[in-house]
Amino acid sequence: MRLSRYFMPILKENPKEAEIVSHRLMLRTGMVRQQSQGIYSWLPLGKRVLDKVNAIIREEQNRAGAIELLMPTLQSAELWQESGRYEAYGKEMLRIKDRQERPMLYGPTNEEMVTDIFRSYIKSYKNLPLNLYHIQLKFRDEIRPRFGTMRSREFLMKDAYSFDLNKEDAVHSYNKMFAAYLRTFDRLGLRAIPMRADTGPIGGNHSHEFIILAETGESEVFSHRDFVNFDIPGEDTNFDDVAGMQAIFDKWTSVYAATSEMHDAAAFDAIPDSDRLSARGIEVGHIFYFGTKYSEPMGAKVQGPDGKEHLVHMGSYGIGPTRLVPAIIEASHDENGIIWPESVAPFDVVVINMKPGDEACDRLSENLYATLGNAGKDVLYDDTDDRAGTKFATADLIGVPVQIIVGPRSAAVGEVEVKVRRTGAREVMTLEAALNRITG
Ligand code: ATP
Ligand code: MG
Repeated sequence: MRLSRYFMPILKENPKEAEIVSHRLMLRTGMVRQQSQGIYSWLPLGKRVLDKVNAIIREEQNRAGAIELLMPTLQSAELWQESGRYEAYGKEMLRIKDRQERPMLYGPTNEEMVTDIFRSYIKSYKNLPLNLYHIQLKFRDEIRPRFGTMRSREFLMKDAYSFDLNKEDAVHSYNKMFAAYLRTFDRLGLRAIPMRADTGPIGGNHSHEFIILAETGESEVFSHRDFVNFDIPGEDTNFDDVAGMQAIFDKWTSVYAATSEMHDAAAFDAIPDSDRLSARGIEVGHIFYFGTKYSEPMGAKVQGPDGKEHLVHMGSYGIGPTRLVPAIIEASHDENGIIWPESVAPFDVVVINMKPGDEACDRLSENLYATLGNAGKDVLYDDTDDRAGTKFATADLIGVPVQIIVGPRSAAVGEVEVKVRRTGAREVMTLEAALNRITG
């Protein structure tokens, strides 16, 4: 992408409305624009990051055996009347009428709709287990939308829904999502801690919020420090291995971790002082086993091996991609701007041409741009006439992991400077060495 032809509206001033660093940086770098309260457009730079986050979520959902579909944002009120939630949901639900005066709503979640899909097609235990997910916009008329896309009214959610014959199988489905979440957040460069969450009338211990630690987080969290060193399940993890999945769950729930809602002060105080972690956190995911809560009122049953009808046991598993993007920024930035983990960076590398019009600068820059692009890298080429200082500041601000600086003096002898955004380390090398460094 040539910056001169791109749409990346960088703001010079810090936007006044932004209270936290991720919101400020997302506005300054032109990643998002608020269209009305808590409703955002994702501008090109932001869209690139969001797509990369979604791609990782998708890969890990698929790896764990979940199957993607796409359900609509608008839902008929009828389904929600069946489950009893139409009345119960309250003011967070945006209720709409179509031209025939039929009550509709903008989905805040999809349990009812996915249960309807399930009951329409699946009649036998032989088709279980099943886990269906989508990545789709939700609307919740939050009383206090704030911090940009961290808590917005319209937001993206990956929501998966598992269906099993009985509780035992449903627990395995739960454990698979648990492990998939550990992998997902790790690949996003985050250390997320699963914390026991309220299960309400369902009971049991199968509800976890995945929380990343950040000073600006809205949740108060208490945990054991050991989480920092726990191993993440590897790529070769066998998600069909029931005992293996259970072992991962057991390990990751073996030490204390809770949000303030579930906090047990006595249990926390029993942890040695130096291992106690009391901090603030951001909820980036939430998984929940809820048994027959929806299958019962909505009649989602399958024939079991015993020939009898069984209500299916369900769980739901949410991740918020549009919250994850600011969460990653909260976890990874410095005074000059964002520092993207490589896995979600909008571009892999930025080529900074210090003097467009200079024969050597243009030749080397164009060569880098073409060669790296052909090697499958996402390259931003700063070919603008901006001052050097502006170019450096922009590159740091948008947080691309590697910068290649092409200045007239070194270009004349075939050399460029490579700067690593995270460490600030700079090194002068030949064009070939720079290409090898990035593609090697
Ligand atoms: P919160 O407690 O933060 O309001 P929640 O518990 O209502 O969230 P869930 O219903 O568990 O949210 O939704 C699953 C995921 O969707 C959350 O873990 C979060 O990542 C994301 N999410 C929920 N509400 C919002 C929002 N208003 N803006 C952005 N992301 C959200
Ligand atoms: Mg939640």
